Amino acid sequence: MFSLSDSIEKLSFLKKKEITALNSLGIENFQDLIYYFPFRYENYSTQKEIASLTAGENATISGKVISIKSSRTWKKRMMITECLVQDHSGNIKVIWYNLASPQSPLRFISKGKYIQISGKTSINKKNELNFQHPNFQLINKLAPQNQENNFSAQTGRLLPIYPENQKTTNYFLRRIIKRILPLVEVPEILPLETLKANKFPSRIDALKKIHFPKNETEAILAKKRFAFEKIFLMQLVFLQTKKSWEKNLAVPIPFKEKSIKELVQSFPFQLTLAQKKAAWQIIKDLEKNHPMNRLLEGDVGSGKTVVAVMALFSVTQKKYQSIILAPTEVLAIQHFQNISRLLEKKIKNIGLLTSSKSLLGAENLTKKELLKKIANGQVSILVATHAALQKKVSFKNLALTIIDEQHRFGVDQRAFLLKKTASINDGEKRTTPHLLTMTATPIPRTLSLAFFGDLDLSIIDEYPQGRKQIITKVVAEEERKSFYTFIEKEVALGRQVFVICPLVEESSKISQVKSVKAEYERLKKDTLAKLRLGILHGRMKSEEKEAIMKKFKNREIDVLISTSVIEVGIDIPNASIIAIEGAERFGLSQLHQLRGRVGRGAHQSYCFLLTSSGVPKTTSRLSAMEKTNDGFKIAQYDLKLRGPGQFFGKNQSGAPDIAMQSLSDLKLIEIARLEAKKILDFDFNLSKFPLLKKEVELIQQKTHWE
Ligand code: ADP
Ligand code: MG
Repeated sequence: MFSLSDSIEKLSFLKKKEITALNSLGIENFQDLIYYFPFRYENYSTQKEIASLTAGENATISGKVISIKSSRTWKKRMMITECLVQDHSGNIKVIWYNLASPQSPLRFISKGKYIQISGKTSINKKNELNFQHPNFQLINKLAPQNQENNFSAQTGRLLPIYPENQKTTNYFLRRIIKRILPLVEVPEILPLETLKANKFPSRIDALKKIHFPKNETEAILAKKRFAFEKIFLMQLVFLQTKKSWEKNLAVPIPFKEKSIKELVQSFPFQLTLAQKKAAWQIIKDLEKNHPMNRLLEGDVGSGKTVVAVMALFSVTQKKYQSIILAPTEVLAIQHFQNISRLLEKKIKNIGLLTSSKSLLGAENLTKKELLKKIANGQVSILVATHAALQKKVSFKNLALTIIDEQHRFGVDQRAFLLKKTASINDGEKRTTPHLLTMTATPIPRTLSLAFFGDLDLSIIDEYPQGRKQIITKVVAEEERKSFYTFIEKEVALGRQVFVICPLVEESSKISQVKSVKAEYERLKKDTLAKLRLGILHGRMKSEEKEAIMKKFKNREIDVLISTSVIEVGIDIPNASIIAIEGAERFGLSQLHQLRGRVGRGAHQSYCFLLTSSGVPKTTSRLSAMEKTNDGFKIAQYDLKLRGPGQFFGKNQSGAPDIAMQSLSDLKLIEIARLEAKKILDFDFNLSKFPLLKKEVELIQQKTHWE
């Protein structure tokens, strides 16, 4: 028997080339291999007699090979293998393309042998029924194949379909996985109680069933078990991390009612109830001598910044330092300006540190000077991009870290930031700064728990008063003309417009997709020639970007053509229209974020979703945007439609695919969380579950402190 961590190179029957092929799929050891799951199944479990086949059906037949020959077509230069298969009812032609190489499994097939075929039947020009490029398996004789380890991995069943690449085929993957499943020792990692309570199959059983299920139900249950396993492990990690985080010491920041009240009164608006509630939770956390670890979740425009400002202000009252991190320079600068304005008469020494800027108040400093002032405590609030966070940055007494738009940072980056900020020299070195993360991804609470289970959660679920609904409309190709007329009219009224394109440059591959540059040229030359246009994208230098943003803010640009770089938090109250080209290419939640760029001022705002896709499914997806302005509703809808992956970016989640897929199963998350709690209450260090403990430690190393 092999162990899960053994390298696949130990398999003597694998050729060097096959090992390289598996490596190219990221498969190094046995665990990788048997955890390489199919993403779907094709059903070929109905056995048929050849005579009863009809055209276009998925079917399995078994028979004797009457003839087989390969030839090259002169026209297409393709190898064609033709085989005639016969059972007692009749015969049928089977054709394979380019499968006659010396390595091909076809080489085992010859006249007189028995073969099983699973595939889709089709009809050729001569009106004959045949199989084109089906799955096949050599069999001993015409007998039932379904014994424990003696089953066909290629035919006559629910066939697993794996993600393959140019070096591998599904045939190969099925063959290998089938062969090694009985050779690997797979110890159970879930507690038996947990398995029993949820009626999950054991680990090895589930592995067999996920690869070669007898029916859909088996496959689904096996999948569910693995999804549960992953989520459960993540929850264990979160809950343990949370506990140990809480053991750290932090600087308690006392609540100074009078000065907070004064601050709130100095704001140019009334706080919403939801803002007050969130601010209160944060202030309460800050009072503790253990570090806060809280996620502030609120839809775009719900007013998170001002809540953050209240926390920053509280910390300065005790003469401690804070840092607020933004994912982009544009956003950092905007925060710097807004925070400086909101704290105008109260705090002067607010700093800005990005890769190209170092400011203290209105004063331009060299980076070195600014770092020095941070280190000796002359900067009380530092706004920075994470790019600017290097080893050299050290504080005199850092007591609070805020990470804005944290969903824009990957898991790795977040882990880095955590480590970074936790290890920042705070002068006394004994305390951990309070941590507040903010996100505009209005993900459902349960999903937040699944991904940020170690955080406390505050949700701003209310918009500032008087904000108008943004009118959203899907614009079809033939409505373009009236759309541009509308833009001209609005600009004539003094409004400004964002036009968002999915790409920076024209791509030959996806020429349908509008690029920023091409669209800018096109609009400038012709369609909107009378208006003042500007262009903005991620590849521009930051000074250029900033200059453009400044011009736009000062109303020297009417229409800004941009990529989704503006997605993150930009605030231009006079912009009342956002038009999104190739809208079908964006997820609903992302569209919603983009839409949040308008509707910030007093004017009625509009969001136009331009699409040339006439696909009804796309149009109905987009029309969800027309129906609601509520980010939580849209997130729910998006979650159902596309799974949770898009909330976190493809490789940002740190979660494996199978868990991702089933994360829309919110109930499973709840169960996993409860089960994890149960286990930890019973045995916090998991000392009675050594295998589980090992897995948890592995994840901990991977995701948290990398
Ligand atoms: P986000 O939550 O997307 O970061 P911001 O903090 O940028 O939102 O706030 C969006 C806009 O709403 C800002 O212009 C801000 O000044 C304004 N704002 C915030 N809170 C209120 C409020 N209670 N009443 C009115 N306007 C508010
Ligand atoms: Mg914001």
